[in-house]
Amino acid sequence: MAVGVLALQGSYNEHIAALRKIGAKGVEIRKGTQLQGVDALIIPGGESTTMAKLAEHHNLFPALREFVGAGKPVWGTCAGLIFLANKAIGQKSGGQELIGGLDCTVHRNFFGSQLQSFEIELSVPKLAEKEGGSGTCRGVFIRAPAIVEAGPDVEVLADCPVPSDKSRIVTPNGNNQEEEKISKDQVIVAVRQGNLLATAFHPELTSDLRWHSFFLKMVKEINDKGSQCVSSLDKD
Ligand code: GLN
Repeated sequence: MAVGVLALQGSYNEHIAALRKIGAKGVEIRKGTQLQGVDALIIPGGESTTMAKLAEHHNLFPALREFVGAGKPVWGTCAGLIFLANKAIGQKSGGQELIGGLDCTVHRNFFGSQLQSFEIELSVPKLAEKEGGSGTCRGVFIRAPAIVEAGPDVEVLADCPVPSDKSRIVTPNGNNQEEEKISKDQVIVAVRQGNLLATAFHPELTSDLRWHSFFLKMVKEINDKGSQCVSSLDKD
């Protein structure tokens, strides 16, 4: 199985190393045509505005949207989550192009700046159910986003408590509606919607390989379903 890793910027090497450790091949993706040779895609963490500018420069958005729209498995971590969301708020200026597909509103810098990066133990029952281990995982949050609104088809895999020091939270654009959305005790930080998996934190920066293994199982499940459909079409 070949898993593409968008290699424009950010933690793509770490994802490729994690895939290698569990026996999967990670392929660096820099051109749209390279997506034809992979079964799935990981969009790493980094800086989403820079990544979007580079993706635009290389005319990658049409191929990325086609890949998502075709039902291929895609996992976005941190900036990758922002890329996959249908809507992003909390931008300093103008916003950026998104791939979309994930029925969520993401606050781009919900947990604050680089200095407010943190690690926390997250409860993820689904991960333990599929991959074993404890019911928790270490969440590494770096200038991290959060999902402030999710549609009905989005399965929530993990929540994170909002830091009690509310001043850490960036208030987007002075817009009351958005402020209302982020005044919560818990925010969503990991989701699955069909072929899309998204985490606001960075499993690739820890030694816990369960998220990569979880994603590979998801890829296999989606591929198996696809080939079942093809073989039933063959019979008709
Ligand atoms: N908040 C960052 C952004 O807007 C993402 C941070 C990360 O990927 N670690 O791109």
